[in-house]
Amino acid sequence: MKMQFDVVVVGAGPVGLLTAIELALGGAKVLVLERLAAPNTAMKAKSIGPLAAEALLRRGMAVAIAAEEERSFAVIQQFIERNVADSRGRGSKLSGHFAGLPIRKDGQREPERRTRAVDQQGLEAMLAERARALGVELRRGCEVRGFRQDGDGIEVELSPGSSIRCGWLVGCDGGRSFIRKSAGFDFPGTPPTTTFYQVIADIDHPELLLPNGWNRTAGGVFSYGPIPGRLVLIDFSGPPEDREAPVTREEVESVLRRVSAKEVRVKALSSGSRWGDNTRLVDTYRKGRVLLAGDAAHVHSPFGGQGLSLGLVDASNLGWKLAAVVRGEMPESFLDTYTAERRPVAEAVLANTLAQIAILRPDPQTGALRELFAKLMQFNEVNGFIGEMTSGLAIRYDLGSELDEVGRLMGNRAITPESSLYDLMQDGMGVLLDATPNRLASRLATDTTQRIRCIDVDKGPSMLIRPDACLAWVGEKGASDGLEEALCRWFSPAP
Ligand SMILES: Cc1cc2nc3c(=O)[nH]c(=O)nc-3n(C[C@H](O)[C@H](O)[C@H](O)COP(=O)(O)OP(=O)(O)OC[C@H]3O[C@@H](n4cnc5c(N)ncnc54)[C@H](O)[C@@H]3O)c2cc1C
Repeated sequence: MKMQFDVVVVGAGPVGLLTAIELALGGAKVLVLERLAAPNTAMKAKSIGPLAAEALLRRGMAVAIAAEEERSFAVIQQFIERNVADSRGRGSKLSGHFAGLPIRKDGQREPERRTRAVDQQGLEAMLAERARALGVELRRGCEVRGFRQDGDGIEVELSPGSSIRCGWLVGCDGGRSFIRKSAGFDFPGTPPTTTFYQVIADIDHPELLLPNGWNRTAGGVFSYGPIPGRLVLIDFSGPPEDREAPVTREEVESVLRRVSAKEVRVKALSSGSRWGDNTRLVDTYRKGRVLLAGDAAHVHSPFGGQGLSLGLVDASNLGWKLAAVVRGEMPESFLDTYTAERRPVAEAVLANTLAQIAILRPDPQTGALRELFAKLMQFNEVNGFIGEMTSGLAIRYDLGSELDEVGRLMGNRAITPESSLYDLMQDGMGVLLDATPNRLASRLATDTTQRIRCIDVDKGPSMLIRPDACLAWVGEKGASDGLEEALCRWFSPAP
């Protein structure tokens, strides 16, 4: 059967869509298959972390992000005005929480690299629009039911008698990934112990009954806001009995009464979901021609909005690499850098979400530990450390360099009077900032690949930046030592 697509991406969630965008920018012919006939409208994540937001800002979505934030802030402001008596300035010095304990902006080294209030539905809409504009084909109402890989491609079965042939298959099909299970990826971890709820409820006089923010009680945890009617509950009495059963008004009222110890009346639910703290990570992100990204590769409780962001940065890491392999410029083994870089990041996120559950449990011993932890978080250095950990800004891929900045994902910065770094990266190219005499570094780069934009800079050091904004090489004092090696490693192996 003839090869029809370079890559088939399974799942049009946020991770699948961003993976498709990255692949298309790298010149691959991509098809996205999504089993749902229309976008999912269930309430899920409400924000994306700084690194995920930057992955989108680099690809032309700044205006869409600003519009989504404006919409979200208007809703949050409405909630604050109605429900929070001391609303002046509230939240302005905060940038998230760790198990409900506030993370402050003043503890952070780069406060401008911030979480964006973009909810999952808005995010999926902006990604779908960008993917369409780049010529990505998205087929909805199309479920993958099987696949078979051979030496040079994969046959993907859609229904009996209907299949598609492609070079590579990327499973972005969520936490219960069919692709992960069918390809036989190991998925070790810990089983769920706890039940979480996120609902939009019509509650009788919530402002009188429920203090705003995170509340840990002898019965569990509840948090009301910051959008009208939103309630998060953590019930430590065990994992969900039946994850598929619809969440009912009666169930939410009963858990809320137990957790808040108040006779709260839930009048109606307009949206409700329930999930456990299943915490698992695949042992590798690739098996032959099958790759995984996002929830398909890792699941954990969604504290601090880390899951969605983790998946989006997976997509940003994988897309350009797979495109380079599809173009034949890099060998298949290049894809192993994807597991090597992203798996340790996921491992750290899983660990911190487990720790957050551990210091939320309702028993008195945990209460004492939590109080101690809260006191430690008063120290700027500790607060900043936790903030960088949960935002992902502490990430540094081990590229073997002794320089601390090599392997870090770069934030945006002015490069020329007209353009910023991210302006230069909109089309998925790498960037070389060249401070070497006679443009020596630029000549080395253009001799190696057409996929690097070379920019003269007056002040050093020179820098080679990969398409995912990872700093791959720094040349000190106008020197180009090590540049050829970095170019070969990330853009084109030596002939
Ligand atoms: C109730 C709830 C609340 C959440 N809250 C937060 C939060 O506050 N912060 C946060 O960061 N994260 C949160 N999450 C997690 C977040 O939503 C996920 O991390 C994110 O959706 C992962 O994106 P993804 O693209 O990897 O997978 P998904 O968004 O799950 O997308 C997978 C897609 O694949 C499709 N699919 C599956 N199987 C097939 C198949 N065989 N063929 C074709 N298509 C298929 C599915 O229909 C789906 O559209 C929440 C999740 C839930 C359920």
